[in-house]
Amino acid sequence: MICMVIFAGLSTTQAYIIKPLLDKIFVEQDASMLKILPLALVLLFIVKGIFQFIYSYMMEEVGFTIIKNLRVKLFEHVMWQPLPFFHKNSTGELVSRIMNDVGLLQNAVSSTLVTILRDFFRVIGLLGYVLYQDWKLSLLSFIFLPLTFYSITMFGKSYRRYSIKMQEAIAMAYSILNETLVGSRIVKAFTKEKYEVDRFAVKLDEVIYFTLKDAKMRSFARPLMEVFGGLGIALIMWYGGGQVLKGASTPGTFFSFLAALVMLYEPIKNLSGMNNAIQQGAAAAERVFAVLDMPGEREMSSGTALMPDSVKQIEFRDVSFNYDEHENVLEEINLTVKCGEIVAIVGISGGGKTTLVNLVPRFYDLGKGSILVNGQDIRSITLQSLRSKIAIVSQETILFNDTVYKNIAYGDMECTEDQVIAAAESAYALDFIKQLPEGFETIIGESGSRLSGGQRQRLSIARALLKNAPILILDEATSALDTEAEREVQKALDNLMKNRTTFVIAHRLSTIKKADRILVIQGGRIVEQGSHEQLLEKKGVYERLHKLQ
Ligand code: ADP
Ligand code: MG
Repeated sequence: MICMVIFAGLSTTQAYIIKPLLDKIFVEQDASMLKILPLALVLLFIVKGIFQFIYSYMMEEVGFTIIKNLRVKLFEHVMWQPLPFFHKNSTGELVSRIMNDVGLLQNAVSSTLVTILRDFFRVIGLLGYVLYQDWKLSLLSFIFLPLTFYSITMFGKSYRRYSIKMQEAIAMAYSILNETLVGSRIVKAFTKEKYEVDRFAVKLDEVIYFTLKDAKMRSFARPLMEVFGGLGIALIMWYGGGQVLKGASTPGTFFSFLAALVMLYEPIKNLSGMNNAIQQGAAAAERVFAVLDMPGEREMSSGTALMPDSVKQIEFRDVSFNYDEHENVLEEINLTVKCGEIVAIVGISGGGKTTLVNLVPRFYDLGKGSILVNGQDIRSITLQSLRSKIAIVSQETILFNDTVYKNIAYGDMECTEDQVIAAAESAYALDFIKQLPEGFETIIGESGSRLSGGQRQRLSIARALLKNAPILILDEATSALDTEAEREVQKALDNLMKNRTTFVIAHRLSTIKKADRILVIQGGRIVEQGSHEQLLEKKGVYERLHKLQ
């Protein structure tokens, strides 16, 4: 800021130097000035240039740093949002907010900040100078100023509206990109390449449409300002020229005044253009802060207690749950699971099995009732500590585009290499890992796309093994596999379940015969429970499911 003020001051001096140039050299024919003035001018430009370099470099640094911090903060905030947030906002939308909207904010922050500070001081300096030189002449030239500012603010308002529309269209385009790139296999299978390309192009057309609307106004605003500027200068020529002819003023004063006025044009133009950047930045800020203002999981959960080291029992007490105020997905679940017990949950699809187990790590908060660990309500426990004691293996294996090693070590970042190898071995994954081109260092592709389903599942089991959590949730961990792969994975799972309290949801009833207890869930209620044999004897829902298979 200091550099900018100095820069602005030196700009004013530039206009001032014209006065002695004309009056001393041309009018008074003073030859000594011929040496001093050019030297002074060169010196002026050099000093001005140095300060310009410093402020513009530093402003870039400040701008980029602010934006980086904001991006990280936004990403962190998004990471801490509860799961329903991710169901409501598409991936593309979120990517667009973090990258695109924050980028627009950067425009507003760095370019606008420079403009505001530098040009504001320049305008102040030059205005002061022209007023000091000849206030009557100055006021005459400012007749058109109110008109200019009026049109600037008018344009700004509609610009903001268009900017929001444009950002929404960009977010949609990101969404389309993300979905179709991730789902490229399905796009191809249904030969929808052209359809998707068209959909994308239409969104980009929308972006162009709104950008052009703004461009039209901006292109109109500039000449308009110039016309007003020209009118002002014409007035000055007529009146100021007359003053010089009458002898009331000198040519030096007149031209120095005119130079200052012309120099005023650029910063004023910048200041008016800046309004657009501000409007766009404000529109982007609205979208960014809409996310930042949403309370995250950390703010919403007040628990401070730590999870007990040994989990003796988990109890569901009168638990009811619904996703969004509709009818209950779970209804009055009462269930006590003892340490080391394997509880299988079966039932037709949509019955609420996944929902039930998702409540244990508090992915969703209960409607009614409570879940207790060793008699302590899980809402009083910090999320971090609660989730650190729970390992999950689900049907859709989420792996990251990194090495095999890193994917397994995700379960415990501080583990040793031996532990990773041991986990891979217990998960029956070591053999196939060794056959990969670079063993543990092989990059497995996005979501592990270079591995087979069974291999992926065994990696995610190794990851869960490494986490070594006392509570284990298996949500249809083998459903996506064929019988052969399932047998391998089942062996891995048997290792994983040792000495853990396990909830296992299974499609194939053959995989849960070993369970200590089987719960049959239907319509959000536990309708039957007992051992495999007991349930068969009961000749109820379970027996029917069993027969069907
Ligand atoms: P299951 O695992 O037994 O197949 P789920 O627990 O996944 O069943 O689903 C139970 C019910 O909850 C279903 O009717 C489903 O439509 C609904 N449901 C699941 N997830 C959500 C969600 N994120 N938002 C709204 N409803 C959901
Ligand atoms: Mg399910």
